[in-house]
Amino acid sequence: MHYDVIVVGAGPAGLYASRELAKNGKRVLCVDKKQEIGVPKQCGEGLSLRYFKELDIKVDKKYCTQEINGACLYTPSEKVVDIDFGKISGYILERKSFEKELAKEAALAGAEIRVMSPVVDVKRENGKVRVKTAGLFTEENTCDLIFACDGPQSFTAGKLGLNVQLDSYDIDSGFQYEIAGIDYEKYKIKRNMLHIYFGNEIAKRGYVWIFPKGESANVGIGIGANVKGSAREYLNTWIKGKEMFKGTSIIEVNSGVIPVGGLLDALHDDNLLVCGDAARQVNPVHGGGIGSAMEAANIAVQVAEKAFKKKDFSKEVLKEYTETWYKGTGAKFKKLIKVRHMLEQFTDADFETLGKAITGEDVMVIAEGELPKAAAIVSKKLLTNPGLLKIMLKYFKS
Ligand SMILES: Cc1cc2nc3c(=O)[nH]c(=O)nc-3n(C[C@H](O)[C@H](O)[C@H](O)COP(=O)(O)OP(=O)(O)OC[C@H]3O[C@@H](n4cnc5c(N)ncnc54)[C@H](O)[C@@H]3O)c2cc1C
Repeated sequence: MHYDVIVVGAGPAGLYASRELAKNGKRVLCVDKKQEIGVPKQCGEGLSLRYFKELDIKVDKKYCTQEINGACLYTPSEKVVDIDFGKISGYILERKSFEKELAKEAALAGAEIRVMSPVVDVKRENGKVRVKTAGLFTEENTCDLIFACDGPQSFTAGKLGLNVQLDSYDIDSGFQYEIAGIDYEKYKIKRNMLHIYFGNEIAKRGYVWIFPKGESANVGIGIGANVKGSAREYLNTWIKGKEMFKGTSIIEVNSGVIPVGGLLDALHDDNLLVCGDAARQVNPVHGGGIGSAMEAANIAVQVAEKAFKKKDFSKEVLKEYTETWYKGTGAKFKKLIKVRHMLEQFTDADFETLGKAITGEDVMVIAEGELPKAAAIVSKKLLTNPGLLKIMLKYFKS
């Protein structure tokens, strides 16, 4: 069968692209190797409100389990920097339901979605792409354009000639428990905030999180993949030392990798657009990738529309996707990779100094990658805080 577009991967990037392409009248096939959309979740499930607004995603109680107003950042000694927006700034999703809803919307718009159908071969043939799937749908189909939305180290993009090898330095290992039975009131854990814990003993080259989720919470960790010791060991040690987890129950275990560094130079090639984790479109500082995956898919869909109008699927036409992404979020992520590299070198004492010197508002500016504003804040603080000056000098030297 011939399709206009075959989307490989039914995660946020692939489902969003499928929905939008189908809405635009394209004949779309979306295939995934998973048995069930959204399972396993491999995610803390936090999604910023701005993506709902910008990408036409409904705020729906079916999958928005918890309103979030901001974040509490904890230094190793648990000094807290509060970033409180005073209004809803995002949600903790039930990601399984979120993705299923996206899949239903895509299907209603006309996309064909197939689970348990791993792509086992992809090749270009006479200006089209031939895609072979196994499993529930063992067959071959062709398309004009393929969307590689198949996660880190994309099989599809790799087969079609992009270098998708990731260095272990550019990956975080993620591990998470969904825990029920936490007494939020007793332990004064604000339900409407993300709780982020820093420190080299706690999470080397990363952080531990508690994302409240109604009566449960996603309690997880992301650490550099090249760090000695596993993410699971780090998390277990941290949980063991916390009174609030005594007598609670683990109701789900998740793990996965997060491509937090080393962006791809080209997100396209002939007949190919790469989106989401497959294109490493993950915020390098906090590791969030649901929103940026869908945002990139949205740009890719717009460029695909132009290619269909021109009936030209060459890399010369598709390069607009790479260029547009790098002018916006890509430029921001490049700056954030530098911030990440600085944070990775922080000692626990540095975190304490920073915790004393900066406010929640400062963190928001720095985390948004607005470097001129961030530089202004940091310079001002440096004048009044010799400890911070020492950290900066150390960082710039190395
Ligand atoms: C522990 C952890 C916690 C996280 N927490 C958050 C968070 O709180 N907020 C946030 O925004 N992000 C978070 N992320 C990152 C987020 O999960 C990803 O960035 C996001 O899922 C990217 O979406 P995607 O569609 O690009 O890829 P994915 O969601 O990985 O989807 C890729 C899909 O491709 C399919 N696939 C792969 N190979 C094939 C093949 N050969 N054939 C067919 N199908 C294939 C897979 O089965 C999968 O369904 C977290 C990640 C981890 C690991």
